[in-house]
Amino acid sequence: MRKVSILGATGSIGQNAIDLIARDIKAYNVVALTGGANIRQLAEDAQRLGAQLAVTAFEDRLQDLRDALQGSGIEVAAGQNAIIEAAGRPVDWVLSAIVGAAGLAPGIEALKQGATLALANKETLVCAGALVLQTARENDARVLPVDSEHSAVFQALVGEDMDAVERVIITASGGAFRDWPLEDLASATVTQASSHPNWDMGQRITIDSASMFNKALEVIETREFFGVDPGQIEVLVHPESIVHAMVGFRDGALMAHLGPPDMRHAIGYALHWPERRDLPVERLDLAQLSQLRFSHPDLNRYPALKLARDVMARGGLSGAVFNAAKERALDHFIAGQIGFTTMAVVVSRVLDRFDAEDGLINAPLTLDNVQQTDHLARQWADEAVIKRAG
Ligand code: NAD
Ligand code: MG
Repeated sequence: MRKVSILGATGSIGQNAIDLIARDIKAYNVVALTGGANIRQLAEDAQRLGAQLAVTAFEDRLQDLRDALQGSGIEVAAGQNAIIEAAGRPVDWVLSAIVGAAGLAPGIEALKQGATLALANKETLVCAGALVLQTARENDARVLPVDSEHSAVFQALVGEDMDAVERVIITASGGAFRDWPLEDLASATVTQASSHPNWDMGQRITIDSASMFNKALEVIETREFFGVDPGQIEVLVHPESIVHAMVGFRDGALMAHLGPPDMRHAIGYALHWPERRDLPVERLDLAQLSQLRFSHPDLNRYPALKLARDVMARGGLSGAVFNAAKERALDHFIAGQIGFTTMAVVVSRVLDRFDAEDGLINAPLTLDNVQQTDHLARQWADEAVIKRAG
């Protein structure tokens, strides 16, 4: 039986993973499930999967979780440290499906115990790619991509030599506002930004798809995970979301990965790797698809993509700055404090402010430094929002 844990089990990715595991529950020994405020879902899944431990991120919800699991024999805990402790329990496979930089420390803890870390949490690599991959090497652990584009690149690279790779192309649907007039973007509402044309995902990543902050994070994730130069990474807008990524080789070949927009493919690939097993995803009928369109993204519409290039050029801790400033800008947008297009302005201000402070982004890449940088970047993002409002 494979021992597995799921961090962020109550979210969109977590629920898709549980769907796969529940179909073949006898093959798994579920050790830990973690979640947030949705105690009912967490408790129900912990019982259904026979988990040993259930953890909520929120300390003030511990009693609710305890009540919900009364008499079940399932251990309960709460808080960020409890999530890190859960990630450190020995298992074969850990899925990191927490949203945001909160996923970093638990992911590192999972690698320290030698588990295979299936990484949906792209923020982990954006904030501390080199540190995470080094931790994996030191502990004979492995990181497998779950983000659909990165899973696609990973699959296109099976059996290939990285020296033969010329370019990596990841696709983007273009999000909710792909066809909107540019001048309307400033007044786009949270509800409008929260609906995705093709994928059904958590609210934060859906809004990040409309702004392409999600793609910006993924470009950085591509660089960190595959070690390719920034100049080798391209983004194409592909409204159908069928081709997830392509790898171009030195002989001119372009290997593409196609599939329906269903995260259970990428999760299942990481779950069964290096084997391929049956997965309950729709089979594509290419004859039915009338067309697959591709175009270059307009950087005026998606300034986040330009910021990602700046971040890769700066290096060091700038990925952590970028992500933290983006998370806070998104919080402020969701709370109605800033407009949709102001998010990129705020992130850009915070990056510039770090640039002006000698040495801050070039401090050594340790977990402590990443967390301190994350904290400061959030504070500066808040200050940038207040300045704009004032
Ligand atoms: P979601 O919001 O649906 O779920 C997030 C999960 O993390 C929930 O279980 C929530 O309780 C938990 N969580 C939230 N804040 C937390 C905190 N501070 N500490 C600990 N746990 C916390 O998000 P999602 O859409 O499932 O995305 C999860 C991650 O996967 C993100 O990094 C996202 O970018 C990435 N991802 C998602 C998709 C997708 O299809 N949803 C695709 C590719 C990558
Ligand atoms: Mg993706």
